[in-house]
Amino acid sequence: RILAVNVDRVLLPTLATPDEREAIRFGSAVVTHADLAASARAVAAGLAGASRVAVWATPSLPTCLAVVGALTAGAAVVPVNPRIGERELAHIVGDSAPDLVLAAPGDNLPAALAALPRRDIDPAERLDGPLPAEADQEAPAFIVYTSGTTGPPKGVLLPRRAIATNLDALARAWEWTADDVVVHALPLFHVHGLILGVLGPLRRGGAVRHTGRFDSAAIAAALADGATMVFGVPTMYHRLAADCEADADLAAAIGRARLLVSGSAALPARDHARITAATGQRVVERYGMTETLMNCSVRASGDRRPGTVGPPVDGVDVRLVDDAGVPIEASDGETVGEIEVRGPNLFLGYLNRPDATAAALRDGWFRTGDMAVRDPDGYVRIVGRRATDLIKSGGYKIGAGEIENALLEHPGVAEAAVTGEPDDDLGERIVAWIVPEDERPSEQDLADHVAKLLAPHKRPRVVRYLEALPRNEMGKVTKRALHA
Ligand code: ATP
Ligand code: MG
Repeated sequence: RILAVNVDRVLLPTLATPDEREAIRFGSAVVTHADLAASARAVAAGLAGASRVAVWATPSLPTCLAVVGALTAGAAVVPVNPRIGERELAHIVGDSAPDLVLAAPGDNLPAALAALPRRDIDPAERLDGPLPAEADQEAPAFIVYTSGTTGPPKGVLLPRRAIATNLDALARAWEWTADDVVVHALPLFHVHGLILGVLGPLRRGGAVRHTGRFDSAAIAAALADGATMVFGVPTMYHRLAADCEADADLAAAIGRARLLVSGSAALPARDHARITAATGQRVVERYGMTETLMNCSVRASGDRRPGTVGPPVDGVDVRLVDDAGVPIEASDGETVGEIEVRGPNLFLGYLNRPDATAAALRDGWFRTGDMAVRDPDGYVRIVGRRATDLIKSGGYKIGAGEIENALLEHPGVAEAAVTGEPDDDLGERIVAWIVPEDERPSEQDLADHVAKLLAPHKRPRVVRYLEALPRNEMGKVTKRALHA
């Protein structure tokens, strides 16, 4: 009874040679590679020629089955954040114009999605049948909307080829095999949780366990029960550090992981050091983005030192350029430049945004908007984003991240963000936004602390105290909201 279905042997090789080992686990619900292949056929059969499919991406098993099924059908997946606001949802649905939406039975869809034809994903549904041809590797597998940290979200067209080659490059960097079991609690509508966190393990022929909400004890329990790798964002590692300091058994369980990987935002050096002190683990940090997937990562066998995202991964070219776009040759750990990326990991373009696509690409290089320095051994250190983290003050170019890390070394500082604001004398003055610990440090105390650790011109001129920093669902500080 099947059907022009494209099992994606490149993206999801175990669908072609399924076995009874665990593939995906959510709580007590387990799907084997054989179940997954049968489910993918069932989902794909119901898609009836749809070429663009929205997935209501709750953190759940049906979401994973919907994505694998749609990829199997050769469709492009548009993952939708289920906690998205109405206006943003209307933008994404209007922009991507999906043919239908995949959801779980009982999911309550907002109006913009409920207007589309809907197909429910029943995790028990299975369909046997022959394996059909491969999907076109240059066609988009996903349209992923960026986090919207710096502007309205843009739809990033990601070809299958980029995903397959990038996952393989990470596998080499992390010595990631079919024996690895990844555990995480990441949302399933971004590259991190969905492509790295679900397709990554499936491409390796290994397994993924999702704990639902982030909970240190659930991560520890998964590690005690065979999980080997943890993926997370810095806010999760911040909590993990505190929980491990308070509980030696938990710290010992986390210490058993083969690899803790952090990404999506800078991991503060202080949290890295706290995790190492409590668990003996050194976190592997990687740097990537929706448009390029992963660019750099500290290798599993490399020097996992705080503050660096490591060298480029296999096949990916990373360079630093100055304001005029001229490549910076220096690897002196000091010369700041914008990161540009080239390689098979690049996106095809922004959906319906030829202007933004043209502005982002220069001679085949993607302009990331991120600023960095390169150490003598080729390790990249991110300084911050050009738009919000590079402060031009008194003739100096100052990276916000360095000052944020210095502020976090003050015992009275729980969280810190640094921005620039216009100043008649300096061009821009440095503003520190502080979430204090119980005892609130004075402005003078903080300025002196930074001036002692860094250089006098890097001290904050203004300190503003907050109860919490504004963050998005990936834990990224939304600096635009600070000045709003
Ligand atoms: P938008 O493009 O809509 O403004 P966004 O850039 O936050 O949002 P993503 O593609 O999800 O959307 O995030 C990629 C960005 O996250 C990178 O450009 C970089 O600024 C930041 N980032 C990712 N990993 C790291 C890391 N290890 N250290 C520092 N920054 C990181
Ligand atoms: Mg971006």
